[in-house]
Amino acid sequence: MKILVINSGSSSIKYSFFDVSERKALATGLVEKIGEAGSRIRHTVFTSEPATEVVRDLVVEDHHRGLQLMVDLLLDARIGVIESPSEIMAIGHRVVHGGEHFSQPTVITAGVMKAIKALIPLAPLHNPANLTGIEVAIDLFPQATQVAVFDTAFHQTMPPAAYRYAIPKQLYEEQAIRVYGFHGTSHLYVTKQAVAHLGKPAAETNLITAHLGNGCSITAVRGGQSVDTSMGFSPLAGLIMGTRSGDLDPAVPYFLGHSLGMSFGEIDKLLNKQSGLLGLTGQNDLRDIEERRSQGDADAKLALEMYAYRIKKYVGAYVAALGRVDALVFTAGVGQHSDAVRALACSGLQNLGISLDIEKNRAGPSGSVTEIQAQDSTVKVLIIATNEELEIAIQTVELVR
Ligand code: ADP
Repeated sequence: MKILVINSGSSSIKYSFFDVSERKALATGLVEKIGEAGSRIRHTVFTSEPATEVVRDLVVEDHHRGLQLMVDLLLDARIGVIESPSEIMAIGHRVVHGGEHFSQPTVITAGVMKAIKALIPLAPLHNPANLTGIEVAIDLFPQATQVAVFDTAFHQTMPPAAYRYAIPKQLYEEQAIRVYGFHGTSHLYVTKQAVAHLGKPAAETNLITAHLGNGCSITAVRGGQSVDTSMGFSPLAGLIMGTRSGDLDPAVPYFLGHSLGMSFGEIDKLLNKQSGLLGLTGQNDLRDIEERRSQGDADAKLALEMYAYRIKKYVGAYVAALGRVDALVFTAGVGQHSDAVRALACSGLQNLGISLDIEKNRAGPSGSVTEIQAQDSTVKVLIIATNEELEIAIQTVELVR
């Protein structure tokens, strides 16, 4: 079954074209800087060995033109992977915020689009861009079933004790202010991989899944379902990230506004785009920070310690929340590739049953699931490569079937 997955942002579109029976992408691409100077499409086809990459710098004035360029490349006589757009049975759209309304992938109807629109106040940057992608895809592929897969959906199983904030309850009832959690598609994908690897029924499997990419979040999974997660009302909460602060005293934004005269917009920008690793070191890419630390840079050393210490605190909290843990899972760019972060985050957790095999950790991933715990560790520690696009494709197929 041929499925297209679209992740539409405000000025970019990421897409992947899958033959789901083979569980692999046949083509992927990125349209960047839509409506800006320097727009381009980068398209990669995996049907030949080595893969073929096409980069075209051209004017992409809007999302419609961007997706039309994608269609042209998918149909291209030389490197195309389909002969007609009608071969695409369904399109899976990543939608960031599903609120309390959506806990499952959903076939997109006019009513669903209205509901996604109604959630714009909760995700003012993401949901409008996701909707644009959906509208253009309906236009270009009228015969395909359009499916929305929500980043928040996996976390809708959290109990109120985990998702409510201790603020006046009207703010929950009237304004829907609560923990939603994000990265749900990734946490679900690695949960399924871990369950398959451990060979126990999902309903008996407890996990802590750490998604450490540019954005970072960590989830407590009981019986295969999310019961707590570190991101909250927005993706700003929890772990230290590339450019986001993660947890901080809620009085800090008040101080920034009241005492320093910063506007809401400036505070939002400071905490989302200028903080985290970037704010601590001037750089947001963990590889650069590791490099600087190895040269003795004090800011880089402290940033890495803080980053890992925050992960460790959440691991401890989630061991407490779950009681029994089968595996701690590391995924995404940093989780899969930084042995230093994994080692620091797991250091001193022997009493919680978590200890790493130094050599296995250093060697890193080999295959889709890699065990790196020490022999005496009662909790398995796994590196699992995430694949959100494949998970969206799988969920789309399951729904369409
Ligand atoms: P996104 O959240 O945008 O999908 P990724 O999952 O690709 O991001 O993660 C990006 C992060 O992963 C960056 O901070 C990058 O430095 C880090 N990363 C990627 N490869 C390595 C590596 N080999 N060692 C350490 N960090 C890495």
